[in-house]
Parts: sequence; structure tokens; C-alpha cells
Amino acid sequence: MFDKILIANRGEIALRILRACKELGIATVAVHSTADADAMHVRLADESVCIGPPQSKDSYLNIPALLAACEITGADAVHPGYGFLSENARFAEILADHNLQFIGPKAEHIRLMGDKIEAKKTAKRLGIPVVPGSDGGVGPDDDAMAIAREIGFPVLVKAAAGGGGRGMKVAHTEADLQFALSTAATEAKAAFGDASVYLEKYLTKPRHIEIQILGDGRGGAIHLGERDCSLQRRHQKVWEEGPSPILTPEARARIGGICAKAMQDMQYLGVGTIEFLYEDGEFYFIEMNTRIQVEHPVTEMITGIDLVLEQIRVAAGGDLPATQDEIVLTGHAIECRVNAENPVTFRPSPGRIQRYHPPGGLGVRIDSAVYQGYMIPPYYDSMVGKLIVHGKTRAECLMRLRRSLDEMVVDGIETTLPLFRALVREPNIIDGDYHIHWLEHYLATGETKSS
Ligand code: ADP
Repeated sequence: MFDKILIANRGEIALRILRACKELGIATVAVHSTADADAMHVRLADESVCIGPPQSKDSYLNIPALLAACEITGADAVHPGYGFLSENARFAEILADHNLQFIGPKAEHIRLMGDKIEAKKTAKRLGIPVVPGSDGGVGPDDDAMAIAREIGFPVLVKAAAGGGGRGMKVAHTEADLQFALSTAATEAKAAFGDASVYLEKYLTKPRHIEIQILGDGRGGAIHLGERDCSLQRRHQKVWEEGPSPILTPEARARIGGICAKAMQDMQYLGVGTIEFLYEDGEFYFIEMNTRIQVEHPVTEMITGIDLVLEQIRVAAGGDLPATQDEIVLTGHAIECRVNAENPVTFRPSPGRIQRYHPPGGLGVRIDSAVYQGYMIPPYYDSMVGKLIVHGKTRAECLMRLRRSLDEMVVDGIETTLPLFRALVREPNIIDGDYHIHWLEHYLATGETKSS
């Protein structure tokens, strides 16, 4: 096991990792920008190192500063959290060159899954069902119209280097295709420095269902069920739950088994998420995230398995915590991402938290790094914290969530709490009847019917 882990992140995930380290008896090193000197992860860590000015590119993305921090403190492993350097294969390689363990997958797997075209080809080869589409990039020499006709309209043009929903354009008819291709390519070039795009069938009312997997890097891998993340705004997840309100045990076992088998074949190491769109009883792979995800607590609540702790254990060469048969899903969990944003316009609302009261009680969990008097800096993402609630059934979970949301107080800044208080009372949400476009439609019209 490691002696000392440097946590190359900030906010709630830095705190989350710190907690797992403490439980394992591993010493912790926090890093922070000058804007985060008062942050909770800095206060609770055994040691801390300032790695640069507020801008992420000068601090949390600053590889030489992180290496220096490892050297000064004598850390022997680095946990990247999510975002920042968590899916940077080069970072993993540089750490290895310095005899530091990157707590995450092998660099080759990070690289493979970071390229969406390659990821899709790999998924297909491993027997994972994919969205029908072009079998690779669509360049100027390809007959995009012929490919699109074969897939069938509507089609979606996607950026190979995509992320965060950027470089994605829908062509509803043949007349829209040229425009969608050129705007997606321009956007992709501007956002990622790579104009490559590919085509996919555009699914009209799918759900976003993702499978959590855990591998030991030696051919052992299990799945830990799914999370339904269909409630999205601008392709960003807002509310996540597990199990999915619509998946049967048979469908779960089938897709989970396919994913676990694929990860065994790859000899995948660590935690990962295989994301699918699900429509009319069929799963379609869209991408794989090779890191811990924001919504991982949903899975922890229904499996009782500490994913961050197990991620550290397998990185140190340890065994998986359970066999597939020993994984039992118990009850239901929902996570709400509470952001420092106006609940109507979603304009960021950084500033000082004047009053803070987190809810409590049975089955209620808060993953947050804020406290009363904390100043939310304007430089990073706007998450205040995640409220995760567990119940024996979905109905009990909703009941508890409603009560917890009403109890939670975050004053001094605007938050998205009022949106969640409204959502938890919506008939479609209560019935579990929603798809990936439901929330945007609801926000635009206030109408509650999903179809
Ligand atoms: P990114 O990496 O930019 O987040 P993803 O491939 O993960 O891109 O897709 C993000 C979201 O975009 C999905 O959760 C879904 O809402 C939507 N999406 C992606 N592919 C399709 C598709 N083929 N049809 C309909 N919606 C899609």
C-alpha cells in the first residue's frame, strides 16, 4: 500500500479522496492555488503545497509544479480526482517516469478511450453495442451524404476529440447535413484543436444509462450496476439515480456482463464508466470515462462499496473487493448536483456563503467542501456540493430527498436548490418517466409532459 498520496485536485472530490486515504491510514498531501488557501481539503490534509496562481492552467494543470510538490513531500502516488489531469495519458506516463503511481488506469487505456472514434472501434471489437454510425472519421473525401443516408436521418455530427457536449450538431434532414458538418468541425477545431468529426444515428428520446466498472489490471473485473443520468442541461448531468427506474434485472445483468467481460479482456485497471444511450430496449455505447465520476456516490449507496478506497487499493496491486455474485444492489439512491448558479438563467453566482445548513438524518449524505463563511472562487466549476439520498425503495428515496432539499440552507449566493425542490415534486420525475431532452424542455416551457 502507498505511504503518502498527493491529491491533485480541489473541492469536494479532493475531500472525498482525503477521507478514503485517512480510512486506509495513508498520509495525505493537498495541493492548492493561491485562491484556495482557505479550502477545506487544505485544512484537513496532513501537508499542503501551494502550486500556483488561481488559473487552473497555472496550478491544478501545472505538471512541473505537481511533480515538485511530490518531491518536496515524498508522496509515492497521485490521485487526480475528476476533471483537470484525470484523463491525461501523458500525465500518467510522466508520473511513472518519476516512480510515482498514478491512481487510475494504464496510460494506453486512457489514451484509447480519449479518442472517441478509437473508443467506439474498441468497444465494438470487445462486443459492446454501439450507436450505428460512420466507422471512423468523416473527411472531405468521404461521401458524407451516402453515409448519412445509410444510417438514416436524423444524424448527429460529433467531434472525435469531443467533451462537454461541444462540437455536436444534429442534421434532421439531408438539407441540414452540410451545415451541421461544417459547424461541428469549426467548433471542434476551436475547442479541441482537432476538426475531426464522425456521424452517428441521432436517437430522439433515449435515456443516458452508464455502467460502473472496477478492474484489477490483471484480467479481473466486475460491474456495479448502473446510474441513470438522463436529466441533463446542455449535455451536463444535473440529477443522477440508481438503479435506473426503467431497467429490468435481466437487462442490467446482460449489459453489465458485457461491460465486465470487455474490461476483463482489456485487463483494465481501476474504476471506469461505460456510457450508453438506451432506447426501445437497446443499449448504444457513446463513450467511456477512465476516472472516478462526480456521480459515483449513487453506486456507493446502493452497493455499500467505497469506490475511491477500492480505486486506491487496486492501484496498489490489491484485489477486487468482491466477486460479481457478491455485488447486491440494495434500495435506491438519487444525487442532486447543487451548483452556485441562478436556478433560472444558470448564470454562475460565486461569492461568500453567509449561512450554511446541510441536511441530515437516515440515508442522507452530503459530499461538499464548503462551510459557513466560505468564499466560492470564480475560477473553477460552480458546484457547491452533492446531496445524495438513499432509501429502501425509489418512493422512500424521493420522500427523503424532498425533506432534505427543504431542510438545506445555502445563503449569500444563488444556488440551484429551488430547481431541485421543483423537480422532486414533478409527476414525470416521481414516475421516473423522462429522457435526455426532458429537462431542457421543462426549463424552456414549464410543461411537465415528457412525450
Ligand atoms: P461529451 O463527451 O461531449 O459529453 P457524449 O458522447 O458523452 O459527449 O454525449 C453527451 C450527451 O450528448 C449524451 O449524454 C446525450 O445526451 C447526447 N448524445 C450523444 N450522442 C447522441 C446520439 N447519438 N443521439 C442523441 N443524443 C446523443
